[in-house]
Amino acid sequence: MKRIAVLTSGGDAPGMNAAIRAVVRTGIAQGWEVLGVRRGYAGLTYGEMVPLGARDVGGILQLGGTILGSARCPEFRTELGRQRALRALRSHGVEALVVIGGNGSQAGAYEVFRMGFPVVGVASTIDNDLVGSEITIGVDTALNVALEAIDRLKTTASSHGRAFLVEVMGRDCGYLALMAGIAGGAEAVVVPEVETDPEALAQEMHDAYERGKSHALVVVAEGASYNASRLADYFHANEKRLGFELRVTILGHVQRGGAPGAFDRLLATQLGAAAVDALARGEQGVLVGWVRGEVALTPLSEVAGRAKALDPQLLALAQVLAR
Ligand code: ADP
Repeated sequence: MKRIAVLTSGGDAPGMNAAIRAVVRTGIAQGWEVLGVRRGYAGLTYGEMVPLGARDVGGILQLGGTILGSARCPEFRTELGRQRALRALRSHGVEALVVIGGNGSQAGAYEVFRMGFPVVGVASTIDNDLVGSEITIGVDTALNVALEAIDRLKTTASSHGRAFLVEVMGRDCGYLALMAGIAGGAEAVVVPEVETDPEALAQEMHDAYERGKSHALVVVAEGASYNASRLADYFHANEKRLGFELRVTILGHVQRGGAPGAFDRLLATQLGAAAVDALARGEQGVLVGWVRGEVALTPLSEVAGRAKALDPQLLALAQVLAR
């Protein structure tokens, strides 16, 4: 192998830069040239790629986001769009592609592989919904951002005897909400994996009030059937029955930004390096993830189009701890 390309795709995640740096430097150590593709699959279809040397990826380890840029690219979902991307890869003499991204990005990577092009995925999304990786690059940092906000909201909620609905990201996956709820000591957690009953939630908040709690904090996943806005609309019709006054905070994109923490830098570095190792061993069509404390390779055929389930024991634990 002489030349590989690396891209970041889908939602950006803190630690993507650390993964790019690891791919570039371990690729160079293999004696390969590494090209960086700009704007994910969008740039790939237009052949936007530049050589990356060891110095080009200096000083990025500690930066959030992705220096290569990311995009969502509807064209890549079509055969025509992907053919165009393959032509661009071949015309640049690229022999293998590393795709750093989440669920959609790895579905795209699988399609590239099915068209006969060597590809390896690196598990990176703050949603943590990828089969083949217990934890993905970016989750830990995003969780810490959510937690800091929750801790702050709790103090003001207690001072005023209020209930807060705090909406966190995660798309269709409740992982961030559940973990933020447990680590932040929430009174309730609302996730897409469990059908929301707003009446039962109102009762839970009222019970917390009756038990003498000074606040009620509910962590809501953005992808839940009742997100924070819908719940607020529902409760505002009759807020008194909650016991508490209600406030809503939607954390949104603030969870994606900022410097990756130590865990994400180390995870990204190890997964990026492992992607290059995998290609050097002739592996392709696999996702590089983290399972039971070590690097694990899973065929993209088992990853694409699937979503990792939430741990039901943790869901049950969140309920018990809310007492
Ligand atoms: P993430 O990787 O963070 O889950 P998306 O779901 O938005 O982000 O996917 C990123 C990009 O991956 C999409 O914009 C599209 O270009 C590509 N993609 C997603 N699903 C598929 C698919 N089934 N086939 C081909 N490409 C896909």
